[in-house]
Amino acid sequence: CAKKEGDLPCYLFSQEMSEQLSYLHEIEESLHLAVREKQFQVHYQPQYSLNTLELVGAEALVRWPRKNRMVPPGEFIPLAEKFGLINQIGEFVFDTAVKQINQWSHCNVALPRVAINTSSTQLLTGNFGAFVEQTLSTNQLAADRIDIEVTESVMMKNIEHNGAGENDTSCLSILQEKGLEISIDDFGTGYSSLSYIKHLNVDRIKIDKSFIDDIEFKPEARSIVKAIINMGHSLGLKVLAEGIETPNQLDILKSLNCDEGQGFLFSKPLDAEKFEMKCLS
Ligand code: C2E
Ligand code: MG
Ligand code: MG
Ligand code: MG
Repeated sequence: CAKKEGDLPCYLFSQEMSEQLSYLHEIEESLHLAVREKQFQVHYQPQYSLNTLELVGAEALVRWPRKNRMVPPGEFIPLAEKFGLINQIGEFVFDTAVKQINQWSHCNVALPRVAINTSSTQLLTGNFGAFVEQTLSTNQLAADRIDIEVTESVMMKNIEHNGAGENDTSCLSILQEKGLEISIDDFGTGYSSLSYIKHLNVDRIKIDKSFIDDIEFKPEARSIVKAIINMGHSLGLKVLAEGIETPNQLDILKSLNCDEGQGFLFSKPLDAEKFEMKCLS
């Protein structure tokens, strides 16, 4: 290890690297264990009609309780992808959400639908389609009670691999044919050409929170949101705004005829017990 004057000592670099490696190793092992033991939890964030303020659904969001803290999906989903565990986690979330919505059919207010996030690996590899079909039939749940969320960038990847419209024989289009709803998640953050959207045959656009954040004070953001809503409507799609935090944002979205919304203004994601108390009683 040749060292010049002024260079960082080599042992620092290699010690840091080996610490990082052993951290990754530890996480990999405990993530494998978490999958085997089904340590994950699913939380639910309510979604409302902005017009009537009626409950229209809930988004299922996975959590990992580890060492006295809840690890957010942003931290472990990318690792799960890397370690080849994402399909199993996705199946766990789907199965849990399907059983949960069925269980809630006995509540005062029934939950109309549950939205489930998917990753590109799930849609492009493995047999998610068959798993979905099997799970719905075992639990006797109608397909239209499930909304599959696909991010804009995954949607584009799917088109690259499978084409669009009649040429598309992908998992996504199979789910669509079975009657599940499909939403484009985080819309506006990708680089999809608008002309694609009309070939996609999706049900809903979810406008990314970053636009909602700016809708009050940045006229450009408001113009973009307005354009997305109008384009969505002209294509026969529902439009949902994510990350609504203030009454003022809600008012603006209502004035722009946005159909649905979710966000901390209404509620943070809640565990099943709290969700039931707050939203279904
Ligand atoms: P997403 O699908 O866009 O989910 C919305 C995220 O925004 C959630 O974060 C939610 O807690 C948060 N959020 C909702 N309303 C507000 C608000 O008003 N203010 C703020 N500051 N945040 C809000 P979360 O639960 O940490 O999830 C992050 C991302 O992880 C999700 O983004 C989704 O892409 C991914 N994810 C979550 N669950 C799953 C899953 O089961 N499978 C896969 N593949 N990805 C998942
Ligand atoms: Mg989502
Ligand atoms: Mg989203
Ligand atoms: Mg988002």
